[in-house]
Amino acid sequence: NVQLAKRVNALTPSTTLAITAKAKSLKEEGHDVIGLGAGEPDFNTPQNIIDAAVKSMNEGHTKYTPAAGLPLLKKAIINKLQRDQGLAYEPNQIIVTNGAKHGLYTLFQVLLDEGDEVIIPIPYWVSYPEQVKLADGVPVYVDGLEENEFKITPDQLKSAITAKTKAVIINSPSNPTGMIYTKEELLALGEICLEHNVLIISDEIYEKLVYGENEHVSIASLSPELKEATIVINGVSKSHSMTGWRIGYAAGNKAIISAMTNLASHSTSNPTTPSQYATIEAYEGPQDSVEEMKDAFSQRLDIIHQKLNDIPGVTCLKPKGAFYLFPNVEKAVKLTGYTDTDEFVSALLEEALVAVIPGSGFGADNYIRLSYATSLELLEKAVDRIHHFVESKA
Ligand code: PLP
Repeated sequence: NVQLAKRVNALTPSTTLAITAKAKSLKEEGHDVIGLGAGEPDFNTPQNIIDAAVKSMNEGHTKYTPAAGLPLLKKAIINKLQRDQGLAYEPNQIIVTNGAKHGLYTLFQVLLDEGDEVIIPIPYWVSYPEQVKLADGVPVYVDGLEENEFKITPDQLKSAITAKTKAVIINSPSNPTGMIYTKEELLALGEICLEHNVLIISDEIYEKLVYGENEHVSIASLSPELKEATIVINGVSKSHSMTGWRIGYAAGNKAIISAMTNLASHSTSNPTTPSQYATIEAYEGPQDSVEEMKDAFSQRLDIIHQKLNDIPGVTCLKPKGAFYLFPNVEKAVKLTGYTDTDEFVSALLEEALVAVIPGSGFGADNYIRLSYATSLELLEKAVDRIHHFVESKA
C-alpha cells in the first residue's frame, strides 16, 4: 500500500501511450498496423556523429563532465547560435541538458513557486502542462485558433497575463500543428512580454525542419531586450535524428542558467558524456544529412497533405515545419457516427489498423495528429486506409 506523492497522482497519463500500447499489441497479434504516432525522425543518426561518440569513448572520455556540459560543446552551441540566429552568448549563459525535455523541466523547477502561472498556447506539446504542474505552477491556456494557423494573437496574450504570470511558451515550429510564427508576430508578442515582465520560453527544437519559403526566426534574435527576456530551448534530437542520445540545451539569462546548473548538479550530474562528444560533431561537422532529412520530410509532406485533404470530412492546413500534420476531423467524426475523436481514433486503429494521436492530448479535441516520420510508401498506404475507413462508414 504505497502512498505516492500528490504531485505524481496529479500527473495526466500520456494519451500517446494508450494508443501506442494498443498498436503494439495488435502488431504482436500479427496485424499489419501502420503507426503514425512517432515523435522522432525515422532516419539513423548520421554516421560521422556515431563515429565521433565511439572515438571519444575509445579515447577515454567516459567520465563525468561539468554539470552544465563540456566547455567544448558549449563552444559549439555558442557557435551554432551565432551562425544560425546571430545570437551571442557567453559560456555561463548555456546549459547542456539531458534532452530539450529535461531542459524545460529544470527550467520550470528553478522558475516557479506555487501558484505561478505559465501561459501555454493550445494546441500544446503534451509535456508542457505536466512539467509546469510538477513545479507547482499553474498552466494558463490560450486558444490558438485554426483561423489564425493555431497561433495566439497579441490581444489573447495580453488578456491572459495576470500578476502571477511568470512565463509564456512559444513553440515554433509547433508540435503538433507545424505552424511557424513570423518575425512580425513574434515582435508583437515580445513587446507585450517586455511590457509585463514575462519570461519567454522559446522551444525551437524543430528549427531545422522548415519547408519551402518559410523561415525559422528566434524571438531572442529580434532585439537585445528580447534576448535578455528569452530562454532558448533547443537540441539535436530532431535536427540530427538523435532522439536517443538525449542532448538538448538552454541559453539565456545568467542567473537562470546558473540556478539550472545547480539543480542539474544534484539531479543529473551531467548529460551523457559520449553523447556530448557526438553533439560537438553534430554541430561542427558536415550538415548535409540535416538537409537531406529535411528534403525527405518536405517531399512526403507535399504528397500526404494533398491526399489527406481528399478524405471526406477532413481538412488540413499545410504545415510549414516539424513533421506532423494536424487535420480537423470534426466532420469526419460526425459522418462516421462516432461520439468523439478519441472513439474515432480507437476505431481507426482497431478496424483500419492505422495509429494516430487524438487531439485531446494536445488540448484540441476536433483534431488528430499524424506524424510523417515514416516512409512515403507506408504513409500513402495509411492515408488510403483512413480514406476508405471514413468513406465506408459515411
Ligand atoms: N519540445 C517539443 C515541442 C517536442 O516535440 C519535443 C519532443 O518530442 C521536445 C521538446 C523534446 O525533445 P528532446 O528529445 O530533446 O527531449
